[in-house]
Amino acid sequence: MKLASVALSALAISLAAPALAQDAAPEEQAQTAYPHTAQGAADFVAAVEKDFAEFSVGNAQINWVNYTYITEDTDALAAASNAELTEKQVAYAIEAAKYADIAGLDADVKRKLDILRNGIVLPAPTTAGAAAELSTITTALSSQYGKGQGTLNGKPISGSDIEAEMGNLEHTPAEYAEMWASWHDNVGAPMKGDYAKMVGIANQGAEELGFDNVGAMWRSGYDMSPEEFTAMTERLWNELKPLYVELHTYVRTRLNQKYGDEVQATTGPIRADLLGNMWAQEWGNIYPLVAPQGAGDLGYDIGDLLAAKDKTPLDMVHYGEGFYSSLGMQPLPETFWQRSMFVKPADREVVCHASAWDIDNKDDIRIKMCTKVNADDFVTIHHELGHNYYQRAYKDQPFLYLNGANDGFHEAIGDFIALSITPQYLVDIGLLDKSKVPSADKDIGLLLRQAMDKVAFLPFGLLVDKWRWGVFDGSIVPDTYNQAWVDLKQDYQGIVPPVERPADAFDPGAKYHIPGNTPYTRYFLARILQFQFYKAACDQAGWKGPLHRCSFYGNKEVGAKLNAMLEMGSSKPWPEALEAFTGTEEMSAKPMLEYFAPLMQWLKEQNKGQTKGW
Ligand SMILES: [Zn+2]
Repeated sequence: MKLASVALSALAISLAAPALAQDAAPEEQAQTAYPHTAQGAADFVAAVEKDFAEFSVGNAQINWVNYTYITEDTDALAAASNAELTEKQVAYAIEAAKYADIAGLDADVKRKLDILRNGIVLPAPTTAGAAAELSTITTALSSQYGKGQGTLNGKPISGSDIEAEMGNLEHTPAEYAEMWASWHDNVGAPMKGDYAKMVGIANQGAEELGFDNVGAMWRSGYDMSPEEFTAMTERLWNELKPLYVELHTYVRTRLNQKYGDEVQATTGPIRADLLGNMWAQEWGNIYPLVAPQGAGDLGYDIGDLLAAKDKTPLDMVHYGEGFYSSLGMQPLPETFWQRSMFVKPADREVVCHASAWDIDNKDDIRIKMCTKVNADDFVTIHHELGHNYYQRAYKDQPFLYLNGANDGFHEAIGDFIALSITPQYLVDIGLLDKSKVPSADKDIGLLLRQAMDKVAFLPFGLLVDKWRWGVFDGSIVPDTYNQAWVDLKQDYQGIVPPVERPADAFDPGAKYHIPGNTPYTRYFLARILQFQFYKAACDQAGWKGPLHRCSFYGNKEVGAKLNAMLEMGSSKPWPEALEAFTGTEEMSAKPMLEYFAPLMQWLKEQNKGQTKGW
């Protein structure tokens, strides 16, 4: 549900699914054994899939053990297995590129070659030493981020603590500014040289694979040209921007009321450090500052409801399974219950970030969570199980199609199910008394709370890769790295740094996904797709009320349609998968706008007399 856990579950999925593999005898590998003909390409792809299917199981087992039992030994085993996986991916991607232009390729073979070519986030070129140098740089960047510290009142503070403190409403504006500036200066600035070097190397690798640059390669995974993809994301943003501008204006007014003109003016951009998040990417932490009078409190808390009935983490997972079963999905396999990690073990170190796993690409699906009995984790369980049901639905696809329709789909499924945790759903499963369902006058609070995370995120979700696309295509150069980032933050988010940026600043480096080299547009897509899925399900269920109150719990017709999309995996262009469930091939922002329509109207009234935008 949270971005951090979202990123990690994506990692788990990619570790467990699409990868290339080879057996113990590398000399028998597909690389050179097949002629450069259509049939040769088909044989190559078949060999790769077989190899991958075998290797991926052991790799997933090793990673599972590492994540649920962290020791130096399991770290070493995982590092070795993952390095082997990367080598295979690189070797197969280079080989796949050589088959790409052969005439008469079977459509599936062509699609799989493209998937192989696209399967690496940062490709190293084949020149001697380049792979090692790239690996050294990316490891250094990622470890620099991991060790990063900021300061609070002059004292060092770790990354996870500073993130939490940015969301703590007890601090003064000076303290927020100190945390913001120290984090960006300490973590980001030292990475700039390495980052620039990395860009150069990876671009050479992308060119060898037949792409203009790494950014174009990233945008080639969406069944359209990179230019069309850029245009589509821009169109979606422009449809949603009016809603964001209203939210921005309203929040700015409330921040002005709280802090005064000196700190936050009533016009222009918002100071980046006042929004409860280091990157101003989700604003839910400051919801108490902006909550509408009288409508801010729903009158119940899911965690309290669960506690009142003595529910355990395991009970919560059963509730999650119950949602999917109500749609007609098969129960989770016995091994899910035996092998998942539901709570933090008392006696060992584990990675607590919630994630969903598919160990054997068949039925051995699992979740890994340090579940606590609270509302957040109740939602997260529904989200993580979405990944598992998706994985199981496409298990009969060929190996290279064991994935979401595009990388936004996997996250969107879980989030879409989580949107259905409405008060009525809680009544249906016996957690909430019918008389406690909040009345319609609480809707604005409910919607505003959602919007502070989901709507506020949109421009950030887009600009992270806008910046990288520019860096990789050379329109943003090292001298303008930081100014371009600051400009994008201002243009898209309407956000400005709280302090002057030094000449050597490298603010993008202070965001995990930049040194971590995780593509980011998937999160932007997922935010929009989840509402499109939700709207489709509610229409199929014949829902007549306001969209945000809809629950399709228990509707088997919705489940059957959903499954038709899920079982396709990535075997077809994503518009076809979208069409199978929603009836349209177009990504659209309209369902999200419809969901938030009552809030939009309310915000417009609140913003009367204010200067909108920045
Ligand atoms: Zn997820």
